[in-house]
Amino acid sequence: MLLTITTTRLPDGSPATDLGFLLHKNPARVQTFEQSFGHAHVFYPQATEEHCTAAVLLDVDPVALVRGRSGSSGGPRGLDQYVNDRPYVASSFLSVAMNTLFATAMNGRCKERPHLVDVPLALTARLPAVPCRGGEGLLRALFEPLGYEVDVTAHALDENFPDWGESRVLSVELRHTLPLRALLAHLYVLVPVLDNDKHYWVGEDEIDKLMARGKDWLREHPERELITTRYLKYQGRLTRDALARLTEGEDDLDPDAAAADHAAEEEAIERPLSLNQQRLGSVVSALKGAGAETVLDLGCGEGNLLRALLKESQFTRIAGVDVSMTALQRAREKLKFERLSERQQSRIELWHGSVIYRDDRLAGFDAAAVVEVIEHLDPPRLRAFERVIFEFARPRTVIITTPNREYNVRWESLAAGTLRHRDHRFEWTRDEFRGWADRVAREHGYAVRFLPIGPDDAEVGPPTQMGVFERE
Ligand code: SAH
Repeated sequence: MLLTITTTRLPDGSPATDLGFLLHKNPARVQTFEQSFGHAHVFYPQATEEHCTAAVLLDVDPVALVRGRSGSSGGPRGLDQYVNDRPYVASSFLSVAMNTLFATAMNGRCKERPHLVDVPLALTARLPAVPCRGGEGLLRALFEPLGYEVDVTAHALDENFPDWGESRVLSVELRHTLPLRALLAHLYVLVPVLDNDKHYWVGEDEIDKLMARGKDWLREHPERELITTRYLKYQGRLTRDALARLTEGEDDLDPDAAAADHAAEEEAIERPLSLNQQRLGSVVSALKGAGAETVLDLGCGEGNLLRALLKESQFTRIAGVDVSMTALQRAREKLKFERLSERQQSRIELWHGSVIYRDDRLAGFDAAAVVEVIEHLDPPRLRAFERVIFEFARPRTVIITTPNREYNVRWESLAAGTLRHRDHRFEWTRDEFRGWADRVAREHGYAVRFLPIGPDDAEVGPPTQMGVFERE
C-alpha cells in the first residue's frame, strides 16, 4: 500500500524539502517502523528544492495479522484470511501507521520550522489503490467539501473481461492548498471511511482519536453523519456520543456566518444543522472543482455566497444579481464594499436584474450559482428561467440548490404540510427536482449530477438538494 505526498517550494521561499521537517522524517534516509500488521517504510522518491515527495509504504503481512488475532470468534475460516486485498489497498492500517509515523506532525508540532505548521502549502496526495464503497461519488462527497480537487482513475476489474465492470478500487489524486497537518487529518479519518471494512481497532478511545483529528472540520462537513457512522463501525452508541460532541457549542461556531441567512424565518428552522454554512461550502467547492474563474451568483440575496467567493483568489470576476434592491443594498453593506481594496472591488459587481428576463450581461461567465432561488419563482416562470440560464447565458457550469420537501418532516419547528419560507412558491421532492433537472439538461446539452447537502436521511434524503450541470 502506497501513499505519496508532494509539495513544491514553500510560500515563504523555503525549499520543498522542508516537508521533511514538518513530517519529522529526514528526506535523505529510508526509515522503517515495525507495526502490529507488518512494517511501515517512509522514504522520499524525490527531494529537490523545487519538488519533494514523501512516500509511505505499508508492508501488510496478512499471515501475521491472522496469528496476532487473539480469541478469534471461531467458525469456519477460508483462504481469504490469508489471501486478500489488505496488503495493497489504503485502509484503516494507514491510519494506524500514521499514528506512529506522523503523530507529531498531526499534533501540529514542528521543532525546526514551527512557523510552517499552519501555513497552507500546495500539496498533492496520491493513493494508487483506494477501495471506495460508494464509488467515485462518495469519494468526491467526502473530499470536495473540504476544498480538494479530486482526480479519479477507475480500473476494469479484469481487462480481459470487460463485462465484469469496474473495480471498487480507485486511483486517487487529491490536490489542495492547506496546512500539512490538515491533509494528514483528512486522510487519517477519511481513508478508513471510504474502505468501510471491518477493522479490529474500534474501541472507546476511537471517539477521542476521531475528535482529535476531526474536531476542526468534521462538524462543518455535509457528510459528517456518514463519516462518523462508518468511522465508528456502526456502533450506535459511539456514533451518537461522537455526533453529540461534534455539535457541542455549534451555535457559537461562526456567529457572523450563522447570523447571515437570507431569511431569519428559514434560518430559525434550519439553524440546528447550520445548513446555510454547509450549503455555501458545497457550492464553493463545486465551483472550485469545476475550475471556474468567473462566476455569477443569481438571486444573490444579502451576499453570503459572494463573501465566500471573494475569499478565494481563484475567482477573478464575481457578479451578484438580484431582483430586490433592498437585498442588493444589504449585500453591499455586508461586503463592506466601500472599504474593500481597489483590487477586491474590481473583482466584484452587483447588478439589479431578474433571472426570468434575458440579459446580455449574464453571458460569458464560466459558472452560475442559483442558490435557494428557484423555489421563489412562480412555476409558470420556470420556462423563462431555463432559457435565460441554459440558452442565453449558457455558462459551462450551472449549480442549482433547492429545498428537498421530503425532509420537512424532520424539522421539529415546522408545522406539517407547510413550506420553509412564506415566499416559497413550491418545494420539490427529490424526484421532482431530478425530473426537472434531467429534462432541462437534456434539452440544452448539459449533463447533470446530484449531490446532497446536509445529512442524507435514509428515508427522506437530505434537507437541501444540489444539481451540478456541466455543458457537454
Ligand atoms: N442565494 C441567496 C438568497 C436566496 S433567497 C442565499 O442563498 O442566501 C432568494 C433570493 O432570490 C432573494 O434575494 C430574492 O430577492 C431573489 N429572487 C427572487 N426572484 C428573483 C428573480 N426573478 N431574479 C433574481 N432574483 C430573484
